[in-house]
Amino acid sequence: MKLGNPVRVTGGVFQIRAIGARVTVLTAGDDVLLVDAGMRGSLPLVAGGLRGMGLSLDAVTTLVISHRHPDHASGAEELVAGRGMTVMAHSLDASILRGSERHPSPFQNALLARVTSPVLDRVNGSPIAVDVALRDGDVIPFPFPVNVVHLPGHTAGSIALHLPEQRLVFVGDALQFKRGKRLSPPAAGVTDDPAQAIESLWRLLDLDFDALCFSHFPPMRAGAHDALRGMLDDRAA
Ligand SMILES: [Zn+2]
Ligand SMILES: [Zn+2]
Repeated sequence: MKLGNPVRVTGGVFQIRAIGARVTVLTAGDDVLLVDAGMRGSLPLVAGGLRGMGLSLDAVTTLVISHRHPDHASGAEELVAGRGMTVMAHSLDASILRGSERHPSPFQNALLARVTSPVLDRVNGSPIAVDVALRDGDVIPFPFPVNVVHLPGHTAGSIALHLPEQRLVFVGDALQFKRGKRLSPPAAGVTDDPAQAIESLWRLLDLDFDALCFSHFPPMRAGAHDALRGMLDDRAA
């Protein structure tokens, strides 16, 4: 998947590879919603990807941020500037994105956290005006249902989005799907609470879905519910 090229996941769901992470695009008629912004500098890739789909950045009504990490959020400022987007993030990550608390290091390794500390503020970018602080169970206004599922663990305010009509869950960084082959838990080195992250994944099994889409891996288009149950059962055994 080339940077900036939109790829269709399923009806009304596309992904554009930006710098750092994929930007997920939900479309229905004239309505466009973006999930995540990529790293700062991603603006031309996102705008170009949308153009490739016959859409424009000015049509985007809502930007949902899956969690506070810079590869998902630091591009938000440039995307939002001068446009009338409503920015949403879970309440537990919103205060950090808004700049009322300093970003904790994404790195769990103490040495790595210390050596990267001086550049952290620059990498995380400027504070973002988060208009809506999301909670578990919220339904984001859109022509088709977009349900917020709180998945704490990778960060405290990590969310998934369940699209029941598409039978799809966007999980952000809450799961890995390396080489498009095998599901695994989020990368422990950049996950605040790995045990809690696993607990959260069990909750996803209550949802009806067959496909998963991720921030750093190609989508899993079928059999995803069974695959997730299999992965969790294997780990619990
Ligand atoms: Zn992350
Ligand atoms: Zn990420």
